[in-house]
Amino acid sequence: MARYSDAVCRLCRREGQKLFLKGDRCFTDKCALERRAYPPGMHGQGRSKTSEYGQQLREKQKAKRYYGILESQFRGYYEMAVRRKGQTGENLLALCESRLDNTVYRLGFAMSRPEARQLVLHGHFTVNGSKVNIPSYLVKPGMVITLKESSRSLEKIKGNIEANSFRQPPKWLDYDRNTLTAKVVAMPQKEDIDLPIEEHLIVELYSK
Ligand code: SF4
Repeated sequence: MARYSDAVCRLCRREGQKLFLKGDRCFTDKCALERRAYPPGMHGQGRSKTSEYGQQLREKQKAKRYYGILESQFRGYYEMAVRRKGQTGENLLALCESRLDNTVYRLGFAMSRPEARQLVLHGHFTVNGSKVNIPSYLVKPGMVITLKESSRSLEKIKGNIEANSFRQPPKWLDYDRNTLTAKVVAMPQKEDIDLPIEEHLIVELYSK
């Protein structure tokens, strides 16, 4: 399946929630959800109550869209989450959160997850000293993520770092703003993930 490339604001309108896919614009009154807070399409304003299955499906779609993950990969994360110790739903969120593109976003190098994905694809980061340009790369405790020396002078990245300087990185990342390096010190926990995702609904859907 091809990656979704239609107007991303439609995704937020479909989920009825801001997914923050467009950086700065998401915080202004230009946000499409501020203007049209109903699902896109002809019947967007006339949809009735959602079934239990519909709620589970929407929750899964929402999680995938927050993180920019396609179905097959998300399903793969679910299967990994089942095999891990602990609660499957929380394991699933921790896996999504551990993606390198999300980590880059959490560290404030990008204004949105789609932008973080682009930065990773363009090879601006190293993990344990080696270039990694795979957005889905899963970081683990002990790994060190660094913005490459040669990328530090890029206006876009410098601007993002400046704009996000007030943002506190999650506690599973030990970030040194002077060296633009972060060490993963733990797996992300549920309380570190500030997204309104009811992961138990996703588990219910997949375990049918
Ligand atoms: Fe979603 Fe951002 Fe578009 Fe608003 S501006 S609808 S939050 S992607």
